[in-house]
Amino acid sequence: MAIVIGIESSAHTFGVGIVKDGRILANEKIMYPINDTGIIPAKVADFHAINAQEVLKNALLKSNLTMKDIDAVGYTKGPGLGPCLRVGQLSAKTLSLKYNIPLFPINHALAHIEIVKQLNNIDDVLVLYVSGGNSQILALTSEPFKHYHVYGETLDISIGNMLDNFARYAKLKPAWGSSVAKAALNGSYLSMPYTVKGMDFTFTGLLTYAEKMLPLQSLNNVAYSLQETAFAMLCEAAERALLLLKKKSIIICGGVAQSSRLKEMITKMAEQHNASVYTAPNEFNADNGAMIAVVAEHMLKSNEHFDIDDCNINQKYRIDSAKIMW
Ligand code: MG
Repeated sequence: MAIVIGIESSAHTFGVGIVKDGRILANEKIMYPINDTGIIPAKVADFHAINAQEVLKNALLKSNLTMKDIDAVGYTKGPGLGPCLRVGQLSAKTLSLKYNIPLFPINHALAHIEIVKQLNNIDDVLVLYVSGGNSQILALTSEPFKHYHVYGETLDISIGNMLDNFARYAKLKPAWGSSVAKAALNGSYLSMPYTVKGMDFTFTGLLTYAEKMLPLQSLNNVAYSLQETAFAMLCEAAERALLLLKKKSIIICGGVAQSSRLKEMITKMAEQHNASVYTAPNEFNADNGAMIAVVAEHMLKSNEHFDIDDCNINQKYRIDSAKIMW
């Protein structure tokens, strides 16, 4: 039996999750209130530092546990914003030292994937990871070590970043992905730049074009066309990977996996190849601590060990360098 805490702090969310033998007991979080200035890392880090103890306390209360019941603690090593990552790392390190429990540094993208796999009880999948910081198409490989290989990814900004940028430009309210979705309802399609290169894709040209169209066309039509074009690019790249790798299951994870239109489009594509699509409730696709706890539990159960001095942060920690030992 194992009870594990996970701490997530890579961007605007400070989250603490608790997992017991694969079951999520708590998933508490607080989110920096985003305004039209976007995210200023030092300010968000201050916010996390001020709220860390309270979120931890709430997670323990929710699961009816005390720190003495906890067997290990994991935290987000990266990728993410340095000052924000640092708060989670120091919180986890403090708990590890104080309660003499193992400490696990965790890749944020891997955690997004593993929680969706665990909630759906599946393993052999193609992954579409779409968020504010990343957009990648991934699948497990065992060479030269077990890890997620990146088959395709954005060559410039992420899909979430692109939608956020557009929403700010159009003066839409946060949260930006869902504001664009609302603005897009019942729009008409205008042709927009569409860039897929094999299984890679780019979004900056599309963003610039959409911004230039805004004074000329209605926000409704521009938002609709931007969203449809961007999601269609993800569908094409994912379809190519699905056929190349002969997978029968796709998971969609990360913050933008909360988009119902994206899920609908990927599901339509998958149905044509008799593949199934899985995702998680929105609570677990947004950044959260439970996903970090899920990976920390795998690490604990496979007897992984990290020296506390090696438990650092890495703002550019890529998922294809994260070794999987379970
Ligand atoms: Mg994320």
